[in-house]
Amino acid sequence: MPDNSTLSLRTLFSTFITGSHILHQQNVLDAYGHLSFRHPTEHSHFFMSRYIAPGTISSPSEIIEYHVSNAEPVDPNETKGYSERHIHSEIYKRFDSVHAVVHSHADAVVPYTVSGVPLRPVFHMAGFLRAVGAPVYDISDYRRDGDKFDMLVRNEHLGKGLAEHFDGGVGVVLMRGHGFTAVGGSMEEVVLRSVYTMKNAGIQTAALTQRAAWLGYLSEEETIGSTEMTQSTVTRPWGLWVREVEADNLYVNNA
Ligand SMILES: [Zn+2]
Repeated sequence: MPDNSTLSLRTLFSTFITGSHILHQQNVLDAYGHLSFRHPTEHSHFFMSRYIAPGTISSPSEIIEYHVSNAEPVDPNETKGYSERHIHSEIYKRFDSVHAVVHSHADAVVPYTVSGVPLRPVFHMAGFLRAVGAPVYDISDYRRDGDKFDMLVRNEHLGKGLAEHFDGGVGVVLMRGHGFTAVGGSMEEVVLRSVYTMKNAGIQTAALTQRAAWLGYLSEEETIGSTEMTQSTVTRPWGLWVREVEADNLYVNNA
């Protein structure tokens, strides 16, 4: 897995733009949702796109640098950003090891946020979901007087409540009536986790509709082994996905 601390900002901007395109092409993100990454040396800063659909970002000039402490832009005159950036800031604040975050509304995953059926790993590419299943964050547990009811994680206390669900090495947290958030040590890793969270949800749903007598979820040992496997092979799907977005002229990367 790439170590962000040794990579230049220019390289990371290019990876960020390509990663945003991959997440769109793979249907993890549509016009909504976002990728972010932590500054490789200034760990109290992170980067996100300005307020545009991830598939359309094309230039480093469209990337905004934020403070981890409060999710405010480093440049106070910066253009408009996403309203849910506290998802990202509160996770970076709580976990030094996290260097990239994805927030998605992928429709295959949403049923598992509202049904009480745990999203559990049904194949080896999703061992990071853990044998017990991905925890579910219920925003209503964290709302305070004055908070909106639009389900968005708009402030520090709502983001902190979400971040706490990643304690103990959790890689993906579901969000009731909303979607999911994934974390990783690199953009490549968090993109892989996001894609395979969505694929696992589709496969699990297909298995459940078969009215099977049982479902052979991965065991605890199998999830650990599979997680190690995907971490050591992330460059293979990443290389394919990069070529796929390069071959599609919707996506432009000028970094
Ligand atoms: Zn959202």
